[in-house]
Amino acid sequence: MTRMHTDAPGYATTRHGRAPAPGPSFGNPFLRCRCGLAGLERIHRRPWMKFLPGLRFYRCSSCGKPQLAPKRAVRDAVIAHRSAQQNER
Ligand SMILES: [Zn+2]
Repeated sequence: MTRMHTDAPGYATTRHGRAPAPGPSFGNPFLRCRCGLAGLERIHRRPWMKFLPGLRFYRCSSCGKPQLAPKRAVRDAVIAHRSAQQNER
């Protein structure tokens, strides 16, 4: 008796495609993705985010993850990113 295929539970959907699918961390705005702050774009805050002074709500232009970040840190990252690109040439 030979087992030709292994479809044990939980075996099928691993190892394949590490696309940033919406998961538990995707909905947590306090977790930031690893794409860097320079690619963030401003989006509208949720009402409760008014209680977080200094933080702004952004969406990553690379992976689409919504996340909170300090406004100043993002601005600095964007400026650094742009000046780095200009220095390449
Ligand atoms: Zn990202």
